[in-house]
Amino acid sequence: MDTISLIEALVDRPLLCDGAMGTQLQARGLKPGQCGEEWNVTAAARVEDVHRRYVAAGCDLITTNTFGGTDVALARHGLAARGREFNEAGARVARLAAGPGRWVLGDVGPLGELLEPWGTISSATAGRAFRDQAAALLAGGADVILVETMSDPQEAAIAARGAREAGARLVIATFAFQAAGDGFRTMMGATARECVRAAMQGGASIVGANCGTNLSLADYVRLGRELVEAAEGHPVIVQPNAGAPRLVNGAAVYDESAVELASCVPKFLAAGVRVIGGCCGTTPEHLAAMAEAMRRHAAGDRG
Ligand SMILES: [Zn+2]
Repeated sequence: MDTISLIEALVDRPLLCDGAMGTQLQARGLKPGQCGEEWNVTAAARVEDVHRRYVAAGCDLITTNTFGGTDVALARHGLAARGREFNEAGARVARLAAGPGRWVLGDVGPLGELLEPWGTISSATAGRAFRDQAAALLAGGADVILVETMSDPQEAAIAARGAREAGARLVIATFAFQAAGDGFRTMMGATARECVRAAMQGGASIVGANCGTNLSLADYVRLGRELVEAAEGHPVIVQPNAGAPRLVNGAAVYDESAVELASCVPKFLAAGVRVIGGCCGTTPEHLAAMAEAMRRHAAGDRG
């Protein structure tokens, strides 16, 4: 799909992004610690099945299974040399499942290491890693690059810039926040305003939040409002977790039901958020309920 038409489509109506990928793959046999991106090559049918469930749920935007697809992140699995292959295959399988009328977001997550001066990764190394990943995603058929779950505004800016240099015509950037006082900050201490500014300076045109730490659904709505204010007219995306997690035997469990998540859809829209989706703990069932809530909202039933 034409990337310009995504911005145009957003003027007409809000769009629905998809939900979690990692937990869906685990439900299909991916072991904890295993490289999920490798499945784009070795178990593509299972990845495609997850995409197809989100398409059937009514999602407009389908996100590739390439969150840890930079060579820096893949190096932790000893698979840095396979980056091009995994990312291209990930974009191809998402494109195939998305079909016409939907956009494929080439997913780019954080490097998982701190940049200099806090860590050892130089901006040049980071820039190269993000550019290479974006180039492979675009070659495989991604329409847009989604830079997501960022904590460091500088890293997000480098990722967005790398995507633009690789030829992406549209970049979306989202950050993971936690509640801090009366507002929100990322793990690196950045405010919504600082994140939005950095992402846009890097070349992102749609900005927002995904995932996050211990945020209730009401927090996500407040965060959405704060982001809309900070974005000054640019479209805002929010992809909440299925509520704040509770720990069960060391594992995070997300309890908010599809009905509860769907009940937030009108609140997000009233706050001015234009793209809504899901992060940790969300399933095709959650997204189907959210799609229905969007349809009801569009039909004028605000109750
Ligand atoms: Zn998440």
